[in-house]
Amino acid sequence: MKYHTIVVGAGSAGLTVAVGLSKLGKRVALVERRHVGGDCTNYGCIPSKTLIHESKGDEKDVLALVRLRRDHLRDEETEWIQNLKNVDFHFGQARFLGPNSMEVIGVDGSPEILRTKNVVLATGSRPRVVAIDGLPAARTLTNETMFEQKSTPEHLVIVGGGVIGMEMAFGFRRLGSRVTVVDRGERVLKVSEPAVSDLLLRRMNHLGIESYFNTVAEDYEESSKTLRLRNGKSITGVDKILSAAGRIPNLDLDLERAGVIHDERGVPTEAFGRTNIPHIFAIGDINHRSAFTHSANDQGRRLVKKLALPFVPFKGKEPYYPSATFTDPEVAQVGPSLSTLLKTYPAQAIHTETVMLKDTDRGYTMGLEEGFVMIHSRVLTGEILSATIAAPSAGEMISLLTFALNNGVTLYKLAELVFPYPVLSEAIKKASSAFVFHTLATFPRQAFRYLRYRP
Ligand SMILES: Cc1cc2nc3c(=O)[nH]c(=O)nc-3n(C[C@H](O)[C@H](O)[C@H](O)COP(=O)(O)OP(=O)(O)OC[C@H]3O[C@@H](n4cnc5c(N)ncnc54)[C@H](O)[C@@H]3O)c2cc1C
Repeated sequence: MKYHTIVVGAGSAGLTVAVGLSKLGKRVALVERRHVGGDCTNYGCIPSKTLIHESKGDEKDVLALVRLRRDHLRDEETEWIQNLKNVDFHFGQARFLGPNSMEVIGVDGSPEILRTKNVVLATGSRPRVVAIDGLPAARTLTNETMFEQKSTPEHLVIVGGGVIGMEMAFGFRRLGSRVTVVDRGERVLKVSEPAVSDLLLRRMNHLGIESYFNTVAEDYEESSKTLRLRNGKSITGVDKILSAAGRIPNLDLDLERAGVIHDERGVPTEAFGRTNIPHIFAIGDINHRSAFTHSANDQGRRLVKKLALPFVPFKGKEPYYPSATFTDPEVAQVGPSLSTLLKTYPAQAIHTETVMLKDTDRGYTMGLEEGFVMIHSRVLTGEILSATIAAPSAGEMISLLTFALNNGVTLYKLAELVFPYPVLSEAIKKASSAFVFHTLATFPRQAFRYLRYRP
């Protein structure tokens, strides 16, 4: 039998495509080599957010609860997908035989050949494990083993101050571990605005999370449980070391046999996930464009429409996807940071408004000392270029600005929005109103800047 589509990988991206196509009556083969739900359900979002949430409560064995919730969801998703109409589920490892055929080696080792019109590669990524001389395997953690620990480590060193590293630093610190973060760069969350990194560093210091920047972990001495850094410093009493230093795309698919171009960052695609081979698509963590569950889902949904309705042309651009980091406070961003915007726009073409949450009535009632909403827009027009929020509920608040950015809603329009009183999102209105007043008060200057400094 020839399938309409083979989907490789039953994670966030692959499940979205398989379910969407099945609902539209297309015959799909879905291949998964490990666990239904992929990284998000099994080793990513679900266990990490459960841990972060429960670390704030009085649950005694948080890690056991994390596994329980994860297993329950995984079982549900597995049963659901195996019974889905129009979807043949294959447990095994897939690889290309040619552009329209794949071999699946089942868990019992038996091979099966599948033929298809389209292929969707949704194989995700895996952790990059940092090599540290002398570090025993039993002391090495990744996001795939972190939640399997029977108890929280006494002293956890996290290599990498990115999103995963930061979330786990705050989570495990709240669970009582001593936590130290080591990063080769000069600040945490280095793709965020520097104000976010500064705020998180202050919070880390406040909570007793130690940190070392501009250095790397070099070697470990088991007898003294000491981790030595390249800058000459030593960290003592280290139980476990979590590698949170980036991801590697899963490309072990014999892509050459289908002629799919790829590099060490994954498979390059156009906005709808199409690779250099027109009927082969790559979505989610495997491509250059996505690093989140919500972006993987969205890429999947957009692709389903194109695959199921072939007369719809592959045209249009991908939206800006927000990011949210579930630290304390949460930080969320949509659109590029200022340093990236400055590669396209002269500084004079950009207007930045920042409102501190403590200057909102809700922030005052909550006693907030930290947190802000920052919006970069074009001068005069108020077209939003990007926004960053650091707030207890930043992950919820960013959606309004995501909608505005992706739909050309300007700061003039946002300034007219009426929020229930008092909410932290009022900071978005305050920032928008401040832009409007500033622009009206200095109109000739703003008009000149707009015309003179157009990119
Ligand atoms: C600790 C952590 C926390 C995270 N938290 C968040 C969060 O809060 N919010 C968020 O949006 N994102 C979060 N992410 C990122 C998110 O998990 C990923 O972006 C998302 O899971 C990517 O989905 P995917 O479908 O591309 O890949 P995956 O979910 O990884 O799925 C790929 C699947 O393909 C299978 N596979 C691979 N190769 C083959 C093959 N050859 N044959 C058969 N099967 C194969 C794999 O076994 C896997 O199940 C987090 C990630 C981590 C590590």
